[in-house]
Amino acid sequence: MPDSGLPGTSAEVLIVGGGPAGAAAAFWLATHGHAVTIIEKRTFPREKTCGDALTPRAVRQLDDMGLSSAFAASHRYEGVRVTGLERELTMQWPEHSEYGRHGYVIRRAELDTIVAEHAVAAGATLLQGHEAVRPLVSRGFVRGAVVQGPTGAPFELMAKYVVVADGANSRFGRSLGTIRSQDWPYATAIRAYWTTPRHAEPWIESALDLRDRNDRAVPGYGWVFPAGDGTANIGVGLLSTFRDFKTVNTAHLLEAYVARIAERWQLDPSTPLRRPVSGRIPMGGSVAPTAGPTYLVVGDAAGVVNPFNGDGIDYAYETARLAADVLHDALATNDASSLQRYSKQLDDRYGQYFKVARLFARIVGRPVMMREMTRIGLHNRTLMEWALRIMSNELRPDETGLAELAYGAMSTVAKFAPNA
Ligand SMILES: Cc1cc2nc3c(=O)[nH]c(=O)nc-3n(C[C@H](O)[C@H](O)[C@H](O)COP(=O)(O)OP(=O)(O)OC[C@H]3O[C@@H](n4cnc5c(N)ncnc54)[C@H](O)[C@@H]3O)c2cc1C
Repeated sequence: MPDSGLPGTSAEVLIVGGGPAGAAAAFWLATHGHAVTIIEKRTFPREKTCGDALTPRAVRQLDDMGLSSAFAASHRYEGVRVTGLERELTMQWPEHSEYGRHGYVIRRAELDTIVAEHAVAAGATLLQGHEAVRPLVSRGFVRGAVVQGPTGAPFELMAKYVVVADGANSRFGRSLGTIRSQDWPYATAIRAYWTTPRHAEPWIESALDLRDRNDRAVPGYGWVFPAGDGTANIGVGLLSTFRDFKTVNTAHLLEAYVARIAERWQLDPSTPLRRPVSGRIPMGGSVAPTAGPTYLVVGDAAGVVNPFNGDGIDYAYETARLAADVLHDALATNDASSLQRYSKQLDDRYGQYFKVARLFARIVGRPVMMREMTRIGLHNRTLMEWALRIMSNELRPDETGLAELAYGAMSTVAKFAPNA
């Protein structure tokens, strides 16, 4: 994908990072008519370690960006098959007034290129192979970044506002003073691709009974996400709330998982298409502050991944859109105080839900609890269906079904758990 222009020296908004969060923020800002520049240190199409599964929430955001037809040829799936303790349950995505009942599995190299190209088509400038090496600070206000291109000397790119969208490690965000709450749950996950004749199945699969090479139960989850292109994305994820978290070798855990599913998925466990790659997943809104006087933090840089299931693409798109709206107001009214609304909006929208999810992450970090919940859930379809609704954050604001009642009870408990 070619760059959209030569490096300018100023923009209204500078966006650090061109992943889902950065590209979506750029799209919405450009659509509002603002001069926006994305700095992306890699070159599209670029790989990103991910399960590649888009939830109905993410699909909704892509549709809103006018990208529905871009995914017509991608692998569409209808819901989730949960497996564990010799049982399985297949469930379609729940009905919801705002979200559809399908998702896609699409490699990130492709997905992120499509969204970045779309932002450029809307008017954003994209500088690939350019790294924001440090913020430009003037009288205490962030006013851009020092940018290093693929060749030549670093240059200064000035902007009225900056969006921090540099992902899970967020070095740029840290240099502005963002901090991740160290004692809040996070996850690590590892994935690779395998060839399988079952690549076109319309269900993603999630295993709740992971076992290590010594056949000991490990409270994490395994996944098989059929990609429709002859392969499936297969991985395992582990929560930091597990007592032995730091001693688990996730590469070995993945090996053990793939060996167990190999026959069912008709694949050769010894031949992943490429070496497995792992990544850390900050979650539950664990990063603060999410706003400064002239900057906003979005996506993984803000730690907005759902602790129930590790999904972050949807929240990256959603937080980027909220940030773009706030910045649009600030630019239109020439009033930077609008930016302070953003953190409150994040809290109103995700604060309590993430707190419940963090509490859940602490509970399932105990192997005995994980096993019991898996056993009970997989014996009761109704229970599992409302669990899916809660875990995918598809509660209905206008209806009180079993899922909403159960969530309400969990939410009350979470209110009395100050450290969740
Ligand atoms: C193994 C694994 C599996 C996952 N599976 C799923 C899944 O199936 N579904 C799901 O919804 N989520 C999943 N996630 C989470 C998901 O990948 C993230 O939530 C999502 O990528 C967040 O998007 P982002 O734009 O915030 O960050 P990123 O996608 O990380 O994008 C950040 C971008 O910023 C660039 N960048 C960083 N620093 C700089 C700099 N200084 N200058 C310029 N550019 C910079 C990077 O090159 C990168 O392109 C998974 C995560 C992992 C680790």
